[in-house]
Amino acid sequence: MEQDIQIIFRSQKENSSKITQMSVKERMERVMRIDSYLKNEKNLSRLHEALYNDLRKPEVEVIATEVGIVQAQINHLKKNLHKWNRDHRVATPLPLLGTRSYIRYEPKGVVLILSPWNFPLNLSLVPLVYALAAGNTIILKPSEISSHTSAYLKKMISELFRWDEVAVVEGDVSVATRLLEMPFDHIFFTGSPRVGKIVMGKAADHLSSVTLELGGKSPAIIDETANIPQITRRLAWAKSVNCGQTCVTPDYVIIHESKKREFIEEFRSAITELYNRYGSGTENSPDYCRIISKYHFMRLNSLYKDALEKGASLITGGNFEEEDLFISPTLLDGISEEMDIMQEEIFGPLLPVITYNERLEVSDIISKNPNPLMLYIASSKKKNIKFFMDGNPAGGTVINDYMLGYSNPNLPFGGVSNSGIGKSLGFHCFMEFSNKRSVIHRRWGSLGMIYPPYNSHVLWLVKTLYKWM
Ligand code: NAD
Repeated sequence: MEQDIQIIFRSQKENSSKITQMSVKERMERVMRIDSYLKNEKNLSRLHEALYNDLRKPEVEVIATEVGIVQAQINHLKKNLHKWNRDHRVATPLPLLGTRSYIRYEPKGVVLILSPWNFPLNLSLVPLVYALAAGNTIILKPSEISSHTSAYLKKMISELFRWDEVAVVEGDVSVATRLLEMPFDHIFFTGSPRVGKIVMGKAADHLSSVTLELGGKSPAIIDETANIPQITRRLAWAKSVNCGQTCVTPDYVIIHESKKREFIEEFRSAITELYNRYGSGTENSPDYCRIISKYHFMRLNSLYKDALEKGASLITGGNFEEEDLFISPTLLDGISEEMDIMQEEIFGPLLPVITYNERLEVSDIISKNPNPLMLYIASSKKKNIKFFMDGNPAGGTVINDYMLGYSNPNLPFGGVSNSGIGKSLGFHCFMEFSNKRSVIHRRWGSLGMIYPPYNSHVLWLVKTLYKWM
């Protein structure tokens, strides 16, 4: 394997200068191969099967959260790549008269994409199409945990590309470690902050640039002015999609004390309406996913038990079926900060509820953990929205809804400090894979008048020139 990785890396490096020269049309043609592949009925049905086997994903979620997102990004590229790839003229300060300045977006070279298991197609192919569009060669290592989708990606990419352009390398941590020994020009990592630190440490050996799309505890604030029936239904869905295994899922709720009782009632009825409308149980709903693996099931189970042991009480849910890797949407009350569930990202369908009375208490709770990927605010009061946003840094914010942070390609998506470095989606993602080369082209004139011999006249001129900069 080590040899294979070296051979692939070297071939991509050699091929890189050719790929770099490609026109936008040629790059788009490569991107469109992925689009056509995903539109093919046979391929799509194999994908449904793979994602069902990995996470028991329902068909609608495969389209809404995996394939649809990739295709939306490809459409966005189709509309914008020509414009992005053009040289971008910038203004010229007076002392530089006679020159023209512009930014040229160039491919970085050979890039590594490391992706997670929770949206294994989306989070592999979205960075991949942007890396391709920016003119790079790519090695993708999908997560070994979503093994069916990883195998699907391997087959897909090897059918569509020569491996000296784009290659999928499957494998576990040992393979990721070997890959990280290579001097990549850029590493795009999506996963946990813990592994993000390892990736960044390895990247430092070669001074490879990094994009780290990480996670963290994303709080959902609900104030006393929020429309509780509406917001709770939205939140119940957001916490249950993919069985809560979503980086942008609300991790815990901080709700105004006066609204807690109503919230609990609404949450119960929302879950029933969404997954148990006919009374056969959420576990029998075809619309509800499963926990990815036994290890992750046990981790969630131990967070739950630890919370109960330390004084939390179960409000609703609490069904754990190990054989089936099923956990029902679970609401917990009586939460305190020393519980494990408040120390690490939950990444599952467990939802702790914390109450507050004064706005200032909210920041105290949130600041116990590092800056989150998303901060959700449910409120109909502008002043409160501003107050919560000003006091709590986050990668992004959605007001009066959930999940939407990863939906608009015109907005950058990503974290801040512990929840990530760099941004994904749209132009921002294209930029992650591009070197912003600055070019100054002298067309006439020169700076000759400030060359030596220096005298009082030159000194005066230099001082004056800087006043015009
Ligand atoms: P993870 O960090 O365990 O793994 C991600 C990738 O890193 C996988 O390909 C894995 O094989 C590889 N890896 C694991 N250990 C490694 C090591 N020691 N050295 C090198 N590579 C290693 O993450 P996960 O469990 O797959 O995904 C869950 C995490 O990802 C959560 O924290 C979630 O919030 C985050 N996430 C973030 C985003 C985002 O866009 N910000 C999206 C999805 C998931």
